Amino acid sequence: MAELLKGAPVAAALTEAYRARAEALRARGVAPALAFVRVGAREDDLAYERAARRRCEQIGIETRTLALPENAPREELLDALRTLGGDASVHGLLLFRPLPEGFDEAAACAAIPPEKDVDGVSPASMAALYADAPEGFAPCTAEACLALLRYYRVPLEGAHALVIGRSLVIGKPAALLLLRENATVTVAHSRTRELGALCRAADVVLVAAGRAGLIGAEHLRSGQTVVDVGIHALPDGALCGDVRFAEAEPLARAITPVPGGVGAVTAAVLCGHVLRAAERLSE
Ligand code: NAP
Repeated sequence: MAELLKGAPVAAALTEAYRARAEALRARGVAPALAFVRVGAREDDLAYERAARRRCEQIGIETRTLALPENAPREELLDALRTLGGDASVHGLLLFRPLPEGFDEAAACAAIPPEKDVDGVSPASMAALYADAPEGFAPCTAEACLALLRYYRVPLEGAHALVIGRSLVIGKPAALLLLRENATVTVAHSRTRELGALCRAADVVLVAAGRAGLIGAEHLRSGQTVVDVGIHALPDGALCGDVRFAEAEPLARAITPVPGGVGAVTAAVLCGHVLRAAERLSE
């Protein structure tokens, strides 16, 4: 039976460590604070906002939300981001994406000051990740995958990792973070041929394709570690991932459940970024 790589213990361990850092900041007169910026009210965004807010409360990070209607003028969003960017009492800015049609997402991401860009969406954060530079933040979901692998001591050095997906929020940053851990990384995408052969050659398979049940027994071999980032609501309301869990679990050495895997770690990673931003900004 595969080891179940549950997110809750990882999030709990991070929360414990972060509480002490939040306390140390408050002792220096700094109240760490995160601002959510939301346009409209997509259910996904609201659910993540609730989860992140709860995690912030447990750690001792203040939160506030700036919500704009879907029909707000584009300039209003940019003004709001600039205002929060210049507000010394805010240390982290999280912009919910995708933005509704008509908004310029690239301009909005670029309006977030890199030192407050706790979800790694600005060009400066991406450049820092690419260059292995210490400033900047990696996107939280990609980093949550690494936090989970680290917590469960999955060997990465010299391991062959296959990342399925090349989005800016998960696939590409996860590949760079795995490379930073000295894994040998292959990135697959929708035009990749022989996906099964690539999967079976890997020690770690990280799936972020956004396709329910894409990966099953025909792609896998025994002894692998499988990280499933995908999350999909089924018609009956149940959630599933990009991996067919019932087929993969008997083969895998270790596997993340969906729900309760990567998704459970993301908000904790976000909090870690807010604390790092507050520590840097207050130095
Ligand atoms: P995305 O922007 O749609 O990117 C999907 C990537 O997968 C693309 O690079 C695409 O290739 C590739 N892909 C699609 N079909 C494929 C196939 N048949 N074979 C190989 N590659 C394929 O999605 P995303 O934003 O990265 O999100 C991925 C998943 O993670 C979604 O299910 C999302 O809901 C989930 N998610 C989870 C969390 C969490 O905290 N757990 C957070 C955010 C998102 P091309 O580039 O060629 O199109």
